[in-house]
Amino acid sequence: MRDVAAEWTHTDGRSEGSYDLLILGSGATAFAAATRAKELDKTAVMTEVRTLGGTCVNRGCLPSKNLIEAARLVYDAAHPRYPGLIPARLPVDFAVLIAQKDELIREYRDQHYASLVDDSTYPNPLQVVTGRARLVDAHIAEVTTPEGDVRRLTGEQILIATGSSPVIPDIPGLAETPYLTSDLLTSEESQELTELPPSLVILGGGYIALELGQMFARLGTEVTILERSGRILKGEEPEISKALADILRAEGIRLLTHAEVRQVAGNASGVRVTAQVRDQEQQFQAVRLLLATGRRPNTTDLGLERVDVQLDAQGAVIVDGHLRTSVPHIWAAGDVIGRETASQMATPVGAHDGGIAASNALAGADRQVDLHRSAGGCGRADGPRSQRARLHLPVQHDSDERGAAGRRDTRYAGSHQDGARAPHAAPPGRLDAR
Ligand SMILES: Cc1cc2nc3c(=O)[nH]c(=O)nc-3n(C[C@H](O)[C@H](O)[C@H](O)COP(=O)(O)OP(=O)(O)OC[C@H]3O[C@@H](n4cnc5c(N)ncnc54)[C@H](O)[C@@H]3O)c2cc1C
Repeated sequence: MRDVAAEWTHTDGRSEGSYDLLILGSGATAFAAATRAKELDKTAVMTEVRTLGGTCVNRGCLPSKNLIEAARLVYDAAHPRYPGLIPARLPVDFAVLIAQKDELIREYRDQHYASLVDDSTYPNPLQVVTGRARLVDAHIAEVTTPEGDVRRLTGEQILIATGSSPVIPDIPGLAETPYLTSDLLTSEESQELTELPPSLVILGGGYIALELGQMFARLGTEVTILERSGRILKGEEPEISKALADILRAEGIRLLTHAEVRQVAGNASGVRVTAQVRDQEQQFQAVRLLLATGRRPNTTDLGLERVDVQLDAQGAVIVDGHLRTSVPHIWAAGDVIGRETASQMATPVGAHDGGIAASNALAGADRQVDLHRSAGGCGRADGPRSQRARLHLPVQHDSDERGAAGRRDTRYAGSHQDGARAPHAAPPGRLDAR
């Protein structure tokens, strides 16, 4: 397979210069904006400090839904729904599972992102400059390449689409203790998890903590989830939290709420978490620790203060309904605008808004996003389908839909890549709640 990443670093000399739209980031939001710019016959350039395509394809939706689907097969084999099927324990070769996930990511990224970049057979190709971008004035970004060269890119309009990163909570002992984050699903980066841990303590009770917890438990890991507040998925209705907590516990996950972590300690062979659970101090031991305590917008060290782009208390870029920041020609969309502006930190929202921001910036389209939207709007007002949509869970296919579903590539199951198209479809998360 073609190693596109290596090629970009050598071809991006062509990307230097002036553009109608300068985009910080190359995730789903950035790609939607760059594609819209191209449709408008405008020039655009993206910048990328990690891997082309951003979180969703490289370390978020695609790898998580791929492994979650594999874990579901293991679980279903052990818990068949039909009398007459004998439960079986499928042996799991985690290293091979991870290798196929990495191959899938490479293949998908190549087909759906890299192939759109720098394709010189088309006029006005999408372009990416590899390196860390920083605004040095209101129209110019300096990009420091992996080789240490500095490129200056000028944009008539600018879009901030730098996404988000895992929150690292301030817990005594954490700095000296090895831990995983949701970046464990990445490939070709040091944070990737390549061995199935026999036991795992997860801090957090949002959808990433829960879906990864269920996945690991189904693959054979002994999982403990510690959630600080009184219930998991606290942004959802209490009935949903309770129903899911019951399901996860029934699957053997040890799930504790009201668990305030006081201290962590450990080394490569094991960790110990001390938590105040209601009025009692308790200790939890596991081989690995996973932090899934939320995501924060990537707004540090972007030079935003220098150009007067305003941030909110969570560090998210403040935008108006047109996705315009406090600086008239600078726009922002995707995870970087945080949840307060109802972005929900989900790929379809970023991809949708990236296109709107580009249309407004480049064509004066005057398009607005609904700052009060909610994932609940995705579903009907009745029945399990609407509940699943509100939960950010994938709507499962009815039996008459399974024929067609069965023919698609199920390695993408439940992700936006389900339909093998660029990210535009499903809301986040995939917990199996049958
Ligand atoms: C484990 C996990 C599972 C998920 N599952 C789902 C799901 O099922 N459904 C769903 O809708 N969403 C899911 N998400 C969320 C989804 O991945 C994000 O909402 C989406 O990827 C955000 O897209 P974005 O383009 O805004 O940001 P990103 O995709 O994060 O792209 C931003 C890019 O900007 C780059 N960047 C940052 N700073 C700089 C800089 N200074 N210079 C150059 N480049 C920079 C970053 O490296 C990054 O590649 C999941 C996330 C995780 C972590």
